[in-house]
Amino acid sequence: MEIKEYVRPASLDEAYSLVVEKKGFPLGGGAWVHMNVRSVELAVDLSALKLDYIVDKGDTVEIGAMATARQIETSALLNQAFSGAFARATEHLVGVQLRNLITIGGTVAGKYGFSDLLTLLLALDAKLMLYRDKTIEIASFLTAARETPFLIEKIIVAKNALVAFQSVRVTQNDFAILNAGAAFHPGKGWQIAVGARPAAARLALKAAQYLAMNRKPDEHTAKEAGRLASEEISFGSDVRGSDEYRKLVCETLVMRAIMEAAK
Ligand SMILES: Cc1cc2nc3c(=O)[nH]c(=O)nc-3n(C[C@H](O)[C@H](O)[C@H](O)COP(=O)(O)OP(=O)(O)OC[C@H]3O[C@@H](n4cnc5c(N)ncnc54)[C@H](O)[C@@H]3O)c2cc1C
Repeated sequence: MEIKEYVRPASLDEAYSLVVEKKGFPLGGGAWVHMNVRSVELAVDLSALKLDYIVDKGDTVEIGAMATARQIETSALLNQAFSGAFARATEHLVGVQLRNLITIGGTVAGKYGFSDLLTLLLALDAKLMLYRDKTIEIASFLTAARETPFLIEKIIVAKNALVAFQSVRVTQNDFAILNAGAAFHPGKGWQIAVGARPAAARLALKAAQYLAMNRKPDEHTAKEAGRLASEEISFGSDVRGSDEYRKLVCETLVMRAIMEAAK
């Protein structure tokens, strides 16, 4: 990756001006873009903005955009509040060295199809705070095309959900063939997300509707929700699996995620 001009702003205001007004290229961990982006006019390194936090805000946890996959994987706060689901969604990402680089901001901004964390954040109905912009739901961020540059400041996750994350991989550190997150939100019901389809994560709305406010579905009900998810979600084929295979895996993975979350 060739960088023509490199800046490391010390404040969010400066970063905003460089990224949003001057259309600079934000650098998170740089782990993915260094392999895929050939040339950048103005690189804006976000590492001096003190956005590498994971903080308890009472009813929510706030995760700064520069928090790494390794911080997330090993965070006692996240793993106690969300039954280890954040560790499950990060522990397969290549190796510890890379997990020390990969940021949640870069992961969300990239909307990568293979992403494990995005599937979990979608099930958790996480909110995305864009600096000097509105707070938006991950679900709308994932589906709406954004024409204008943006700067992710943090991700906000409500703490009250019962959640589980599941994935299937050929080897421990490969991209997932499919992943699924299921979360029961008190007062709202279920939110079920399926990712690595191989396209980016999407919500299984009919499956969630079917489960409604059933906080503890039995195996038969969870299985039916899995079947509904596999019918409504679309799948593609790649070297890791065919669309038919992913559809079959979806049924079981969603069922398992629901049963685990409902424990
Ligand atoms: C070899 C390899 C294997 C991987 N395997 C997996 C896997 O199995 N599962 C998985 O889930 N993930 C996997 N990942 C992806 C990883 O989890 C991250 O999603 C990816 O590396 C992006 O994070 P980053 O910090 O490196 O972002 P970068 O590469 O720095 O940036 C990614 C994009 O986000 C933009 N960006 C960064 N920060 C911000 C911000 N704060 N605001 C706005 N835009 C921003 C950048 O401009 C760029 O367009 C893998 C990555 C690599 C390199």
